[in-house]
Amino acid sequence: MKFLQATGCYLRTFGQLFWHNYCLCCNCETSDEDEFFCPECWSKIGFCLVETYCIRCGREISAFGKLPVGCPKCEHETILFDSIACAGIYKPPISELIVKFKLGDRTPLLPILLDFTQKAFQRASFYDIVDYIVPVPLYWRKRFQRGFNQSELIARRLKNKKTEFNNDFVKIRETEDQTAVSFEGRRKNLEGAFAVRHGHNFKGKNICLIDDVKTTGATLNECAKTLKEAGADKVFGLVLAVAGQEK
Ligand SMILES: [Zn+2]
Ligand SMILES: [Zn+2]
Repeated sequence: MKFLQATGCYLRTFGQLFWHNYCLCCNCETSDEDEFFCPECWSKIGFCLVETYCIRCGREISAFGKLPVGCPKCEHETILFDSIACAGIYKPPISELIVKFKLGDRTPLLPILLDFTQKAFQRASFYDIVDYIVPVPLYWRKRFQRGFNQSELIARRLKNKKTEFNNDFVKIRETEDQTAVSFEGRRKNLEGAFAVRHGHNFKGKNICLIDDVKTTGATLNECAKTLKEAGADKVFGLVLAVAGQEK
C-alpha cells in the first residue's frame, strides 16, 4: 500500500513536470490549468459571443434595436420556427472551434461549447416553456461516417429541470451539403428530408431544436415545418453560432 501511495506521488510529480496546458484554439502553451484558452483567444472569443440578437433570425443587433418582432434584415424572410437563441456569431475563432469540434477531436471542446450553449439556453425567452430538447438529426450514413452527431452531443447534456432529451426526430433522406447548394436551392434540397418516429410524443409539445450553426435558416425551417405537421405546438431553435450576419 505504501509502495502504491509513493508511486502515485511520484506519478503526480512526474505529470506536473511534463504536462502542459495548451490553448484549444491556437495551441499555444497556457499557464492556467483551469482555462480552455489563452488570454488572447479568450478575448477574441468574447467578441464572437453575443447577448443581444434578433429573436426571430438570431443576427446580432444593438441593445437598443431589440424588437419583439424581428429586425430589418429578417423582415422579408420566411421563418417557420417561433424564436431562436444563440451563443454567438459564426466568425473566427468560434467558427474554427465549431469546425474542429465537428470534424476533428471533439472531446476537449465539448465542455466549453456546451457551456456556451447552456448559457444561451438559460437566457432564452423560451427556456421555461420547452418540453423536449431535440437535436437536428444527421442522415444515418453521415452519422456513421462521422461517428457522432455534434448537435446531439450538446443536446443530450443541456440542463433544464422541466425538459427531456428526445431522439424521435430523424433524417430520412441523404441531402447535398447545404454549403454546396445555392441560397435559393437550400429549401428545396431539404424538402421532405426529416420525419418523426412512430409513437412519438410531440403532439401539443414545445420543442427546442439544437444545431451547431444557423446559416440561412433553411434547416431549422424544414425541421420546424415537419415537427409542426406532427402536432408540435411551438418549435424554437438554439444554436451555437449564427452566420450570414450581413445578408
Ligand atoms: Zn490561444
Ligand atoms: Zn432578425
